[in-house]
Amino acid sequence: TPLSLIRNFSIIAHIDHGKSTLADRLIQACGALTAREMTNQVLDNMDIERERGITIKAQTVRLTYPAKDGNTYVLNLMDTPGHVDFAYEVSRSLAACEGSLLVVDASQGVEAQTLANVYQAIDANHEIVPILNKIDLPAAEPERVRAQIEDVIGIPADDAVGISAKTGLNIEGVLEALVTRLPPPTGDATAPLQALLVDSWYDAYLGVIILVRIMQGRLKRGDKIRMMASGAVYAVDQVGVFAPRMVPVDDLGPGEMGYINAAIKTVADCNVGDTITDDRRPATQALAGFKPSIPVVWCGLYPIDADDFEKLRDSLSKLRLNDASFHYEAETSAALGFGFRCGFLGLLHLEIIQERLSREFNLDLIATAPSVVYRLYRTNGGMEELHNPADMPDSSLIEKVEEPWINATIMVPDDYLGPVLSLCSERRGIQKDLTYVGNRAMAVYRLPLNEVVFDFYDRLKSISRGYASFDYQMDDYQESDLVRISILVNQEPVDALSFIAHRSAAESRGRSICAKLKELIPRQLFKIAIQAAIGSRVIARETIGALSKDVTAKCYGGDISRKRKLLEKQKEGKKRMRQFGKVEIPQSAFLAALKMD
Ligand code: GDP
Ligand code: MG
Repeated sequence: TPLSLIRNFSIIAHIDHGKSTLADRLIQACGALTAREMTNQVLDNMDIERERGITIKAQTVRLTYPAKDGNTYVLNLMDTPGHVDFAYEVSRSLAACEGSLLVVDASQGVEAQTLANVYQAIDANHEIVPILNKIDLPAAEPERVRAQIEDVIGIPADDAVGISAKTGLNIEGVLEALVTRLPPPTGDATAPLQALLVDSWYDAYLGVIILVRIMQGRLKRGDKIRMMASGAVYAVDQVGVFAPRMVPVDDLGPGEMGYINAAIKTVADCNVGDTITDDRRPATQALAGFKPSIPVVWCGLYPIDADDFEKLRDSLSKLRLNDASFHYEAETSAALGFGFRCGFLGLLHLEIIQERLSREFNLDLIATAPSVVYRLYRTNGGMEELHNPADMPDSSLIEKVEEPWINATIMVPDDYLGPVLSLCSERRGIQKDLTYVGNRAMAVYRLPLNEVVFDFYDRLKSISRGYASFDYQMDDYQESDLVRISILVNQEPVDALSFIAHRSAAESRGRSICAKLKELIPRQLFKIAIQAAIGSRVIARETIGALSKDVTAKCYGGDISRKRKLLEKQKEGKKRMRQFGKVEIPQSAFLAALKMD
């Protein structure tokens, strides 16, 4: 295909504004799939994504479109995730394209992630075509939203395309805008190969698959390729495109997107963002790539059954290949044994990985309390990054501790502004700005990340009845009065439950966790003391009374099968518990204990 007939684009939007629905419509309109093959939302193809209605992995698809000008164009679409935790995945998709469709729900208007995504697209030098979606809704106000795009974002929206992705209204308008308004890619087919490694994942049949965008040169089957960062060399077994099924092709030229398959053994060789070149005729320079993802939330994952440790290691390495933004390293815990400390982009990312481990790999795990990365300065002069609260040394050894701060943008209807501002100041937020976009307030806050990772997002949604939108960027580190709170069950510290908090919040959080654990830990045959302590000073305490009779006592005589069921249920429950000294703590306690009310 000549370059002039190729268009590479992303779709960016605030969550729920209709990005996936539009992508499906475009696929359907270009006849890439028959109606029967169109499952609900083709691009959200992981089970969890479909269930939660969110896009996590950026997916790509190649479409052909016979335009009104008589030419048939190749359109490469990259879907992008819409959740704040996945801003990094957005930036990698954008790096592979020349333009973006900016989808805005015409009944809602511009939201926090609309802004965040569009600024990323502007940074990537994209041509941006605004799309006003959901104009079928009676509440749609396309003219108001058009003006809002110009005022708030500052891009022209005169020829924004009004559509309904749901009913299919004016999908052709979108396709024509793509070919007439987005620039074609540039590149020299005779230059040495430079291909951007956009994504890689593990396929059960084919092994490692790499998604590439060719910038310069050609890539064909049999080529010897070199990964410029790792230096690894591989022979290419297969080259193809996603249409949206995998279809092998002879070669890929400049401006094209597709996949390659080579017998790659070492996951670490395929760094997302790396440049792939020709081993025999290498490019002199790597592409600019994009910023690597930095995990901001860490927690420990431990198998409930110690025999599953190797299986967990194997599963994590497969997941990592599928998701380069996820990190892990082996660690041990006095309470939980052998496991891994894992790094995530945010709490949703953590929950998704945990869910995939249990669903796809059938692993029963305990997760420890999530923690952000602190900087610890020791009195002896050393500085270290603290990923695990249990590693925080005695306060006499600490010079100072710094914690990460974020810049957050929150948009919310005026009616809910009060509670949102209280929530921010409760969480030690510092207001930077407060402006209005119509009747929506836009508040900009500096907040400590550790106040945000646990449940800030959920709380924000509930106090605003779902109307608030939120986005954040990492800012800097700042010294803070932080303490480690240990949790003791019958005088024994449970390292996996210890956490770090600001001194001013330590007592109330200690109290709320002890109260939670009291509810979550089942009564046993003896009394259980639950305590929260800073160093040796106890700051909160609860007691669980002793249980006097066993569970089957109330159905003695008669119904044997009911008795057996109860015993089985109890056994099942046991599998999901951890023994601490004489006390068993259920799996659910570990994460739940740290979610505040
Ligand atoms: P995404 O989060 O941006 O990918 O949004 P989705 O494509 O998953 O759409 C979110 C919700 O909006 C779904 O329930 C869609 O059915 C609905 N939706 C999408 N486009 C339209 C539209 O044009 N009109 C109406 N009424 N609903 C739409
Ligand atoms: Mg979606």
